[in-house]
Amino acid sequence: SRKFLVGGNWKCNLTKAAISDLVSAFNAASPLDPTAVEVVIAPPAIYLDSTRQILRDDFAISAQNVWVSAGGAYTGELDATMISDVGGDWTILGHSERRHHPVLKESDATIAEKAKYALETAGLNVMYCIGELLEERQSGNTVAVCERQLAALAATVSDWSKIVIAYEPVWAIGTGEVATPEQAEEVHFAVRKWLEKNVGKGVAEATRILYGGSVSPANCEELAKKGNIDGFLVGGASMQPSFLEIVDSYK
Ligand code: 13P
Repeated sequence: SRKFLVGGNWKCNLTKAAISDLVSAFNAASPLDPTAVEVVIAPPAIYLDSTRQILRDDFAISAQNVWVSAGGAYTGELDATMISDVGGDWTILGHSERRHHPVLKESDATIAEKAKYALETAGLNVMYCIGELLEERQSGNTVAVCERQLAALAATVSDWSKIVIAYEPVWAIGTGEVATPEQAEEVHFAVRKWLEKNVGKGVAEATRILYGGSVSPANCEELAKKGNIDGFLVGGASMQPSFLEIVDSYK
C-alpha cells in the first residue's frame, strides 16, 4: 500500500524554451490518480520558480540540492526554505553526482546535515539517494555501502514520514545499463530489512524505495512489478514526453 512515486531529475539540462515545450506535453495528459501515484519534477534551481508556475498542479516540484542550513552569507547557495517559498515541496539529496564528482565530494555527514535542515526546518520532503560504485559492486560491497549511507541519515533524523529512498547504482546512471529487476529488488529488500532492524518495522513498511539508473519506457514495467520497488527516479528519460509512460508503469 505504498503509493507509487516517480521523480524526474532534469539535472543541469534544458532551457526555458525547452521546459515550456516539455511542460506543455505533460500538461496535456490525463490527470493522475492521486490515490495511486505521485510525480515530482526537479528542474535546475534557476528554473524552479518558473516551472512551478506553468506545470500542472498534480505534479510536485523538487530542488536537486540545498545548502546545509539557514541562508545568509553563502554565495551561490540555496536555503531549503526558499524552495517552499516558490511552491516546491521536495529536494533530492545525496545524488551520486554530488557524492562523487571531484569538485563536490559531498560526504555522508554533509548530506545528512542537509537532510535534517530540509526536513525539520524547511518542512520539505527529501529524496535521499544511495548507491554503490561499479568497483564497490564488483568487490561485493553493494549492501554495505548502502547501509553506511542509510546509517548517516538515521543518525541525524528521527521522523521518516517525509523521506523517500532512491537506490541509484552509480554504474547504471546515464549509461543505458539498467540494473536487472532482480539486482534492484535484492538491494531494495536489503534496504527495507535494514530500516526494519535499525529504525523500526512501521518505517520499513511505509518508506518508499525508488530505483534510479537508466530507467526508460522500455524497462520500467518489469522493474515496477517487484514488490520492493515503489517507483523510480528518472534522469534522461524524464526530459521526454514519454516520461508519462514511466509514470503509468504501476498500472
Ligand atoms: P538516468 O535515468 O539518466 O540514468 O539518471 C538517473 C539519475 O541519476 C536520476 O537521479
